[in-house]
Amino acid sequence: MPRVLVLMSETGGGHRASAEALQAAFAERYGPALQVQIVDPWSDHTPWPIHHLPRIYGPMVHYTPWLWKALWILGERNWIARPVLALMGLLTQRSLLRLYQAQAPDLVICVHPLVQHPALRALRRYDPRVPFLTVVTDLASVSATWFHAGVTCCLVPSVEAREKALALGLGPDQVALVGLPVRPAFARPLPDKARLRAERGLAPDRDTVLLMGGGEGVGPLAAIATALAERLSRDGRSAQMVVICGRNRRLRRRLLERAWPLPVHVLGFVEEMPGWMAAADVIVTKAGPGTIAEALICGLPLVLFSYIPGQEEGNVAYVTAQGVGVYLPEPEEVAAQVSHWLGPGRAQREAMAARARALGRPQATFQIVEQAANLLSSIPVSP
Ligand code: UDP
Repeated sequence: MPRVLVLMSETGGGHRASAEALQAAFAERYGPALQVQIVDPWSDHTPWPIHHLPRIYGPMVHYTPWLWKALWILGERNWIARPVLALMGLLTQRSLLRLYQAQAPDLVICVHPLVQHPALRALRRYDPRVPFLTVVTDLASVSATWFHAGVTCCLVPSVEAREKALALGLGPDQVALVGLPVRPAFARPLPDKARLRAERGLAPDRDTVLLMGGGEGVGPLAAIATALAERLSRDGRSAQMVVICGRNRRLRRRLLERAWPLPVHVLGFVEEMPGWMAAADVIVTKAGPGTIAEALICGLPLVLFSYIPGQEEGNVAYVTAQGVGVYLPEPEEVAAQVSHWLGPGRAQREAMAARARALGRPQATFQIVEQAANLLSSIPVSP
């Protein structure tokens, strides 16, 4: 049975979400004909102190965003990034070779830019015939570290990313524009909003605002939720809010203790994101690539309230330039915009929703696994 190894790293929630989306799509399309294993080589297969590196990412982005931005800019300079990545490759080669010997992969898929270089280097030493597929999981601001001319194939989610790949030396046949991997359920038609709301204990006829901050529930979600609830209630909107706190348990506890002037559903980490998004009319979120790709598929106009410096900045420009959302960093501004969209600005909101739906790529995940399977010509494809 062919074995596929999906390599990712736990920096933010998006890379794991992408890896799991691919694993689920492989299972749906090819069932037991294929074995797919997700591995975090940085955390689980590299020596001390390298295995601690992914843990630095969250606190660095939160407490010293300027430092993260500086590193991101350095990563754009090949003459700095390449030697650093080559050194990482040297330091991790032995552990990665052991990983490949244990897993004996027939195909390696990588969904993380900094894992890619060491993993590719070690794979070429393990067995140069094994195909290596990179799936870029950033949207518009795609770091130069994503692109390595030694990969078999590189799948990108946007025109901007494809142009950058070509500019950085990948061949036109090596790069394909597909989309971001999202849960397979995003590819299926869902029941109408009223039914989805009723199934989730929401009022079927109230406009629904979804508020979230990535897998970790980051950003000023409490302040935004408060400003939003007050404004919608003051403006007399028939609305309700769903706040998805992700893995941020403290935020969830805080919000659950509050009394709200309108119905507010506070949730922790939800697995069933397609249903919650499809039940909503508007999304308020940070500029995470995964969330944006999912919101587009569900036709949700976006209010972006923050972004990770460097890596998510281009996503803000992408959303605003495509006319599918706005960037507003202040809670009061977010509240005023959403209230406008649920009131006199309804037609503007509906036009944005239509543009978002047209831009979404619901089939991307299945297209990615099909391209991956093409690299493994021996897999029998189930009907
Ligand atoms: N997500 C989820 N459940 C939650 C919160 C988030 O499944 O409760 C998913 C969300 O649907 C998206 C991913 O986590 O696929 C977040 O990725 P994104 O790139 O938006 O942000 P990150 O968390 O990587 O900064």
